[in-house]
Amino acid sequence: VSYSALARRVATIVDLVGIMQVLTWDARTQMPPGGAWGRSHQMASLTSVARDMLLDATTARLLDAADSDTATLPEDRIERQTIAQLRDAIALHRRIPAELLTRRSELAAATHDLWVEARKNSDFSSLAGNLEQTFDLARELADAIGYETTPYDALLGLYEPGSTSAGLDAIFGELCAGLLPLLADIAEKPAPRTDFLRRKFPIERQREMVRRIGVVLGYDLTRGRIDDVIHPFEVAFDRDDVRVTASYDENWLMPALTSSVHENGHAIYEQHVDPSLKRTIMVADLGLLYGTGGPSYGMHESQSRLFENHVGRSRSFWQAHYAIVCDLFAEQLADVDADTFWRGFSAVMPGLTHFGADEVTHDLQVLVRVDLERAVIERRLAVRDLPEAWNARMKDLLGVTVPNDTQGVLQDVHWPTGQIGTFANYAVGSVMAAQVFTAASADPAVSAGCAVGDYTALRGWLGDKLYRHGRRYSRREALRRATGKTDDTAPYIAYLNEKYRDLYAIG
Ligand code: ZN
Repeated sequence: VSYSALARRVATIVDLVGIMQVLTWDARTQMPPGGAWGRSHQMASLTSVARDMLLDATTARLLDAADSDTATLPEDRIERQTIAQLRDAIALHRRIPAELLTRRSELAAATHDLWVEARKNSDFSSLAGNLEQTFDLARELADAIGYETTPYDALLGLYEPGSTSAGLDAIFGELCAGLLPLLADIAEKPAPRTDFLRRKFPIERQREMVRRIGVVLGYDLTRGRIDDVIHPFEVAFDRDDVRVTASYDENWLMPALTSSVHENGHAIYEQHVDPSLKRTIMVADLGLLYGTGGPSYGMHESQSRLFENHVGRSRSFWQAHYAIVCDLFAEQLADVDADTFWRGFSAVMPGLTHFGADEVTHDLQVLVRVDLERAVIERRLAVRDLPEAWNARMKDLLGVTVPNDTQGVLQDVHWPTGQIGTFANYAVGSVMAAQVFTAASADPAVSAGCAVGDYTALRGWLGDKLYRHGRRYSRREALRRATGKTDDTAPYIAYLNEKYRDLYAIG
């Protein structure tokens, strides 16, 4: 009885989070610019209502009553997991003063506007003062949360609970050792044809392509929808209303293809959460007040990367489904067969951005950002020296010369909006994607399906081992349950080497 009273209270808070997701989706897809002021106040009000509900005496009373009534249950029962996660979320809110969050969101709004201008003019110095305040505030936030060795761990932990800088050092060390020699070998070889990706592809037809590919992957459009945006994202209001977005470039086919497959991966995760977890803490991060059916950002990213790379960039996918693209763009692709398309689509092209980077250079792009933000947080690097450090790292790791700050240190929205500590999850996601896909492929039904472009068995496997649990298990525990192992970069490095040594005919 006491537990169901607590569950009802949690359901109301989860509903508030769902409403915030609707408002966020609207703000990023439909809202006219004039709506920004009102929307930011609406979001702030909902945030404080949700936070107050979490921290008030009623919740505390219900929590204690439910805790003592369920104390004899095993710890892996959903009641016990719910109580433990709710206590963690409340403890996090207690450590972070509301006043700090208000200052943080005000600074983020002001700095975002400055960033837009600075980016237009490639003028880092006009942003530097605000960015310095942003990093100061991130340190203040880290101090409020608490940490053992470095404030960066506190920030990482917000998005990737349990992850540490030391753990990241190990992962990135192994990735560099595995990827840099491969990248050097690829650079020696002739590049595959990619010219055909830069022809004129009418956007109306690209939209249809994105829809058809979503259907092939298993994105359920009776419980989803696709809208146009500049910067694509996925958002779940609930497991039965999971929306994705795609971005289009009329003269370049890559953005629509990669972003839609990526966001479909996120959406398929959400659509497979067990229906019994609707309106529970297992589909919302009540610490960050964000709706998600995955235990961490990195775990969620692992599934978008799994679909983007292991499915969408696979030879078997294009052998089976190239007809979708050919039907819509028969003229543009008249001189291109499925294998040529796959090679071009997979081509390794060290570039300036993280968004849209190929598989081999993607995590090196991430490393540049993680290294620099951590160095600033730990006061080993001054904000004013970021442009120079950025350009040096890009040259060093990727061999590219950054022509200006707009295409360099000013390109990402993360730092200006205070999202410091989130980049790492992209690389953690790549590593886990390979672990999970390798484990899934050991099932003969999964590998037979993937070989002919049928992902029913793959979705079944992922749903059963991972997605249906929502946030019940920590990232590490969820990974262990799905693959039998904890973090392991070996499957990822092996996968990239096998694919690209073959594609580039490296002996
Ligand atoms: Zn993603």
